[in-house]
Amino acid sequence: MREWSWIKIVCALALLLMAVAPARADKIVLKNGRKILAYNVVEVGDKIQYETAAGQLTIPKSIVDHIEKGGLMPIAESPAAAAENLNIAPPEVEATAVTAEIDQAVVHDGAIDRAYIAGLESEARGGEASANERAGLAHHAAAQFELARGDLEHALSDEQTALKYQPEQATFLMSTAYVHLRRSEFKQSLDYLERAKRVAPKNADVYKLAGWAYSGMNRPEQAVVEWKKALELRRDADTLAALEKAKRDKQEEENYKENESAHFQLKYNGAAAPALAREVLRTLEGHYEQIESQLNYSPPEPIGVILYTQQGFADITRAPGWVGALNDGRIRVPVQGLSGVDPELSRVLRHELTHSFIQQKTRGRAPTWLQEGMAQWMEGKRSDENAAVLIQVCDAGQAAPLGRLEGSWMGLSGDVARYSYAWSLANVEYIVETQGMGDIERILDRLAAGSETEAAVKEVLRDDYGELMKSTEEYLKKNYGR
Ligand SMILES: [Zn+2]
Repeated sequence: MREWSWIKIVCALALLLMAVAPARADKIVLKNGRKILAYNVVEVGDKIQYETAAGQLTIPKSIVDHIEKGGLMPIAESPAAAAENLNIAPPEVEATAVTAEIDQAVVHDGAIDRAYIAGLESEARGGEASANERAGLAHHAAAQFELARGDLEHALSDEQTALKYQPEQATFLMSTAYVHLRRSEFKQSLDYLERAKRVAPKNADVYKLAGWAYSGMNRPEQAVVEWKKALELRRDADTLAALEKAKRDKQEEENYKENESAHFQLKYNGAAAPALAREVLRTLEGHYEQIESQLNYSPPEPIGVILYTQQGFADITRAPGWVGALNDGRIRVPVQGLSGVDPELSRVLRHELTHSFIQQKTRGRAPTWLQEGMAQWMEGKRSDENAAVLIQVCDAGQAAPLGRLEGSWMGLSGDVARYSYAWSLANVEYIVETQGMGDIERILDRLAAGSETEAAVKEVLRDDYGELMKSTEEYLKKNYGR
């Protein structure tokens, strides 16, 4: 009956992508480093024409550096990942002759000109308004460049410096809020958005971002209020979709009871026994402590958990019937028919909780193979049962390149998905068993700082993907081969 089989735990990632709007988009990379996520990008004369949720737009070809086709979307629809997908989320300074000049002077030859910024800062020491404005714009331009490269830490620091020069600049406030959102720092994000509301009460983006922040804090009712307000100010497909999902959550959860522990906010509907809810929390706290010490990381935000009856789970997640549990920023687990936490449920909770840790630790930047490999490792799965098949596949030269397992697994058939899980576990198992969990921790830290996965793997293990796969194959043969 309640068979939490392995394939059923083909949990979050494939499904989550169904909730994210289109799975593929092009990335327009501007010469100043800014990136625009867009659809149907075409060249028309000396212009580039593209579509976003805001409609069809064009920009001059002269400011475009290059276009990346069909970039993969982030793996999971956590609020942070969803924020990354907001087509117009990082608000733009209204382009003027001054901003264009400063953009160009701040970022050139693929780098930030700090000497130029220092020059503007010393001019601003006189306290003249226009000099302050220029210094602020320069730091904002630097922040946008860093943001486009995934360097959230420096982007945040530059954006905050920009605000020192112009504390009431709505764009700087929203951009700072956006970077906090990308870092899963929801409360800080809201602080800046409150300030932005005071100076730009009619800007739809402020409310749109506030909705994501509340959603990240597991407060769908407040997210609904913000997104409704955003839609009053401007119709926007992203916001509309987010609102619909939050409304479904809110409606379902209205009759739910709440329970809290040190690190979790649990909701469950009346049909689930309060004793079960308490036991789930106890189990989660136990897992939390262990994962925390293994990854040497404590998620800054409480983790939301929802226990569903089977029907509620299907209605809300719109997930196919075979799905066991999923993690879309909150851990969602169907528990119908359970009166206590059995070993299977405990494993599922541990698997999903690992996703939450990695999601928060890497700020949503972990590739699918690493997420699923780690989640399986943490739940206690090892490669023994699949080693023989994996070795055969390797011998046939058919091992899937890890680069192909970074993005969505949504299009994979059941068998291929099963293989992808096994192969991901094998690679993670090799790293943990031979190099230690410390190396995983270092890889995750580099991802959080903005590295691409293969670069992070190479820096830590000194192996590229090809070498890692070869080592994994040898590890399997040595440990499981006959
Ligand atoms: Zn998983």
